[in-house]
Amino acid sequence: MIFDYAIFGGGVIGTAIFNKLTRKGKSCVLLECEPDLATGATKANSGLIHAGFDAETGSLKARFNVRGNELTEELAKELKVSFKRTGALVVGNDLEKLNILKQRGIKNGVKDLEIIGREKLREIVPNLKEEINYALYAPSAGLISPYMFAIALAEEAVINGGVCKLNFETQNIEYKDGIFEISSENQTILARKVINSAGAGFNKVSKLLKTEEFPIKFRRGEYIILDKSDFVKLSIFPLPTALGKGILATPTVDGNILLGPTAEDIDEFNTETTESGIDKIISYIKSTFNNVPLNKNIRQFSGIRVSCGEDFIVEKSKINPNVILIAGINSPGLSSAPAIAEYVAELFEENGKDKPMKPRESYTCEPAGKIVCRCEKIGENEIVRAIKSPIPATTIDAIKRRVRAGMGRCQGGQCLLEVCKLIAKNLNIQLEDVKKESKNSLIMFKGDF
Ligand SMILES: Cc1cc2nc3c(=O)[nH]c(=O)nc-3n(C[C@H](O)[C@H](O)[C@H](O)COP(=O)(O)OP(=O)(O)OC[C@H]3O[C@@H](n4cnc5c(N)ncnc54)[C@H](O)[C@@H]3O)c2cc1C
Repeated sequence: MIFDYAIFGGGVIGTAIFNKLTRKGKSCVLLECEPDLATGATKANSGLIHAGFDAETGSLKARFNVRGNELTEELAKELKVSFKRTGALVVGNDLEKLNILKQRGIKNGVKDLEIIGREKLREIVPNLKEEINYALYAPSAGLISPYMFAIALAEEAVINGGVCKLNFETQNIEYKDGIFEISSENQTILARKVINSAGAGFNKVSKLLKTEEFPIKFRRGEYIILDKSDFVKLSIFPLPTALGKGILATPTVDGNILLGPTAEDIDEFNTETTESGIDKIISYIKSTFNNVPLNKNIRQFSGIRVSCGEDFIVEKSKINPNVILIAGINSPGLSSAPAIAEYVAELFEENGKDKPMKPRESYTCEPAGKIVCRCEKIGENEIVRAIKSPIPATTIDAIKRRVRAGMGRCQGGQCLLEVCKLIAKNLNIQLEDVKKESKNSLIMFKGDF
């Protein structure tokens, strides 16, 4: 079979494109080199659907962010993924800078922006430090689970005829007579057109495609995640700087509190967390809020922003116009994903109406039988559903992303073994072959070590 489209990379950008082109009635294959989707930047970010006032007017970032924000609510509803339009505040005392952001937002097409003063600010955020007087209020900002969004986008595509290949490590690509022959160690995929949305792996894929490569820079963002509470009810940012949007406090769509990210330029892709990064977050958050519930800290993690200059790159290759290059998708990439997918369809002149799609089912159901994750109250039946889903969850973290088993206060301390056993039993593999995430992330060892 020759696919109409092969899409490299199962992050939120690749999965949104996979979904859109399948909706256009095209045959698509999604190629992801890891054992699950959403294991790159898409798994470790703030989970915000930004309003769109931050990006420079006229940039692709501004255009895709505002359009993506509009598209996300309906899409999330169709995919049965939670999305909450909780709003965002940029707080500070520099009224002039807040006004510049507001005017930029209006030019970008963001609706209902408002500068608010002390009284309203205190009503919305009672625990804000006394000395902070103003905020820009953006009610259209929202919260989503970034990995669940990506997984659901791909699942719906698969239910409607798309093919998703995990663990697909491309070794060679030939382009002959208008067909790409994309080969891994043991299979060859044929496709007429290709989208390179491989995130940090963009240049590796470009090299194989013999298309343009770009200089890529990495900027790490560390986070602290707190157990569920109502410490903040919407996303609260400082005024942005040259390094980005700054350290924020936000609820996640599932009710945890996220503090971060830091912004540190690094030489190579490295997701470690550091004492200095965590200290920076704590000191900033304590300078902005009273009564920070740091005793609810359950984990630290980091994500890597990948950039190729100021703006996103989303364009046809000049070397081979049957390839679309998508590079430097740092923030607001999550917010922009549905709009980038829409634009990719336009670039390939897929202008027909979207076809009606068979819906995806959520894994959530009344827990029946044993409760496996006591913190998040996840039943055995939900975990088995995730393992048997259209894009099977085969690792501990894949289960965690889909049903939240191991996401709670004990971070899997109690349920890890049970989840391992369910994966082993349902995939018919040995317990010691169950992995945390990547191929080398063993959890159990047999014999001496
Ligand atoms: C700290 C931080 C905070 C952020 N906060 C926000 C936010 O709140 N809101 C927002 O809108 N954006 C945010 N972003 C940006 C957002 O996370 C990214 O723009 C988005 O996740 C990028 O998605 P992607 O699909 O391009 O990349 P990725 O998610 O990295 O996906 C790329 C995929 O390609 C795969 N891949 C790599 N090489 C190959 C290969 N050779 N073959 C096949 N597959 C390959 C990878 O395994 C990966 O799955 C944030 C980013 C960071 C790091």
